[in-house]
Amino acid sequence: MKIAFHGAARTVTGSKHLITLNNGTQILLDCGLFQGMGQITDKLNGYFGFNPAKINYMVLSHAHIDHCGLLPRLVAEGFNGAIYCTPATMDLARILMLDSAKIQMQDAEFANKHIRPGEEMEKALYTDEDVIKAVGLMKIVEYGEDFEIAPGINLKLTDAGHILGSAAVHLKITEDGKTTHLTFSGDVGRYGDLLLKSPQTFEQADYILMESTYGDSLHKDIDPIEEMLLEIINHTCNVKKGKVIIPAFSVGRTQELLYALNGLELKNKLPDIPYYVDSPLSAQATEVLKNHTEVYNKTVKEVLKVDNDVFDFKGLRFVESIEESKALNADPRPCVIISASGMAEGGRVKHHIRNTIGNEKNTILMVGYCEPSSLGGRLIAGQKVVDIFREDYEVRAEVRSIKSMSAHGDYEDLLHFLSCQDPDKVKQLFLVHGEYEVQQHFALKLRDKGFKHVNIPEYHQEFELE
Ligand SMILES: [Zn+2]
Repeated sequence: MKIAFHGAARTVTGSKHLITLNNGTQILLDCGLFQGMGQITDKLNGYFGFNPAKINYMVLSHAHIDHCGLLPRLVAEGFNGAIYCTPATMDLARILMLDSAKIQMQDAEFANKHIRPGEEMEKALYTDEDVIKAVGLMKIVEYGEDFEIAPGINLKLTDAGHILGSAAVHLKITEDGKTTHLTFSGDVGRYGDLLLKSPQTFEQADYILMESTYGDSLHKDIDPIEEMLLEIINHTCNVKKGKVIIPAFSVGRTQELLYALNGLELKNKLPDIPYYVDSPLSAQATEVLKNHTEVYNKTVKEVLKVDNDVFDFKGLRFVESIEESKALNADPRPCVIISASGMAEGGRVKHHIRNTIGNEKNTILMVGYCEPSSLGGRLIAGQKVVDIFREDYEVRAEVRSIKSMSAHGDYEDLLHFLSCQDPDKVKQLFLVHGEYEVQQHFALKLRDKGFKHVNIPEYHQEFELE
């Protein structure tokens, strides 16, 4: 058996790992889009490094676009096998892939408007139709179910606690009379997440593919999220009479914020001002989460007994149209606006930041990981002047951040995830989904824990498994 790393190798996007059995059967783990890699992004997304038509099966760990965003392209290039995932991943991947197709078609249209004579027309990587075809190939596997993909190939998914429906993937493969256990962590969440259950333990593996996004950092906050939110909203909206702008990922952060604000309402502490979620995708993702109560942790289930909608509270409004979104800018009253994208690189939130950044009465609240070069990253770094839509803006608004609102576990969480394993029995541990420098630090921590064979594969590198 062989394994090759065709994405998320020494980087955090484009997750794609290909297993090839001795008889030629191929199983692809994830099929993610590369994002934010500058000029080489298109090139990376245009070349798989394998033949999609030859893949027999595909397992999808979760619905983030850097894990499923090239699935429709895989299908367009000839993949026709089953795609195994949890029920929630199927629902969420559908809306996220449709959104991705829309963005790509808009980008291509925009590029073609500015095309020079002789230049090639820009084409979207895929269309809505490719997304629908991909969704049609999806087959549901429940957490904990022992599922036979084919004779000698068994699959089990366990909760990874990262986002709604996220799973760690466990394959039991028997070939030539020998059984091999291979685990792919997918992305690993935090122990003690506001909404989701903690990552589950899993059977002893011979080979592990382990994510390493936060392999060298800890992100604990001193105060509970609710308390920090309350302090920031009171200070901004009641004392300074300003607006709080929160760039937040449509999946995960937005629902966590709504849940925390709902929690404040249940305690009669929620400031009486308007709250807006200004992102149609965030509204859709919230609906998907409401339909999948099976993923909630015990605390959320307890709250559900006294409140039948844990994401809704007085003053909350979901903004659909662009006109209504623009109208928020003209309204001077204090309010809270939660909007995508999470790194403030695109989407409606960029307009809200442009309109509020010049006034000290406002607060821009960052609640997730930001690439250092993104607008969110530059704000967190404390830049005094930032470029927005090619114009310089002085940063007069307060910039705050809540670090513990991350979908990824920190290194203590990652080590916790692996603590169910006997390191002596793990033949190879491959680090994926992390920046190379971070991975090197994490590899040292893992060696300290007794994992002797830690590898950091390069892009397209292939390994023979014993
Ligand atoms: Zn993820």
